Amino acid sequence: MSTLTISNLQAGIPGKQILNGIDLTLKSGEVHAIMGPNGAGKSTMSGVIMGKPGYDVISGSVTIDGEELLGKPAWERALAGLHLVMQYPTEVPGVHIDEVMREAFATRGRDTKELDALIAKEAGRINFSTDLVARSLNVDLSGGEKKRNETLQLSLLKPKFAILDELDSGLDIDALRDCARRVEAATTEDNLGVLVITHYARLLEELKPDFVHILAAGKIVKSGGPELADELEKSGYAAFQ
Ligand code: ADP
Ligand code: MG
Repeated sequence: MSTLTISNLQAGIPGKQILNGIDLTLKSGEVHAIMGPNGAGKSTMSGVIMGKPGYDVISGSVTIDGEELLGKPAWERALAGLHLVMQYPTEVPGVHIDEVMREAFATRGRDTKELDALIAKEAGRINFSTDLVARSLNVDLSGGEKKRNETLQLSLLKPKFAILDELDSGLDIDALRDCARRVEAATTEDNLGVLVITHYARLLEELKPDFVHILAAGKIVKSGGPELADELEKSGYAAFQ
């Protein structure tokens, strides 16, 4: 059992504060949904937690089991058990998915002998063609293929905590169901803790949240159970802005 603790996180870009004090505690196996209007700071929050360059942290802390992550490069945060599924996955020409996974396994001291079989098995679970595994990372992949590729990496790397920044943007209903179901399965099979950023209740029908938080203007303004997502679907964000 691990705990990701975000305390009084204030951060932004040079000259502009975007996050105004975020507090959130996420335990292994839990799914927390973050919902909020455009521009609320959801992507900023995911980038700051993962260590994406370009943000300034003003104050606060982000820890996994007491180990401070702020100040560390993204790769060290990944080794500590954190994984970010980006809203717009980066294209990396010339670098193949299976090569990236081989390096990541080696860095984690994991055996790479069974990797090809593992990739085939995990790709099958989310209907991702193994032909795409030997292609350049995200280059010329469709929206659905990119998110299946991100989900494949998540299922292979088995992080302690995953942040999914709008997993549902740019993919069709079948791809959304395959990806969301695989992440939901990881919460029970591997005790994965999930922070899922979404605008839509549809994703949360497959990836069932234990808690829903509304982020507005860089702060969590309301927290509740899954019923909060249904409430938002009906009433929108107007009451929270
Ligand atoms: P969300 O993901 O909730 O839609 P973001 O975190 O992307 O919101 O953005 C929050 C606010 O910060 C927005 O007003 C956005 O324009 C601004 N912002 C984020 N990143 C940058 C940046 N690199 N440069 C300028 N403004 C930014
Ligand atoms: Mg965003």
